[in-house]
Amino acid sequence: MSNPLLAAYRYTTNNWTMIQESRVCGCCNCMRTFPPDEIVGWTGLDFSQVDDPVAVAKQTAMCPHCGSEAVLGDKSGYPIDASFLGRMNEAWFQRTLIRPSKPRA
Ligand SMILES: [Zn+2]
Repeated sequence: MSNPLLAAYRYTTNNWTMIQESRVCGCCNCMRTFPPDEIVGWTGLDFSQVDDPVAVAKQTAMCPHCGSEAVLGDKSGYPIDASFLGRMNEAWFQRTLIRPSKPRA
């Protein structure tokens, strides 16, 4: 994975541990940044697993603003700022990375 945008996206799932260790988080969908303690929604856990630390650590953060499972923390090593989130948004939500749009003349 040489493309940092491709590599970064895997941190948006099963990222409970990374988010806890981050100081700032950002959403690739709505491109807002927020502290980790603003995240109140997590997916991937049901009531039978709440005491299982392995299952807890594999939860996926939901953005507190738009609800997307597209949250990155700065612990991932990526810059959580408008520029990087904008590039992630373009690559993954506008699919320019997967299906490059042809420039129109
Ligand atoms: Zn969001």
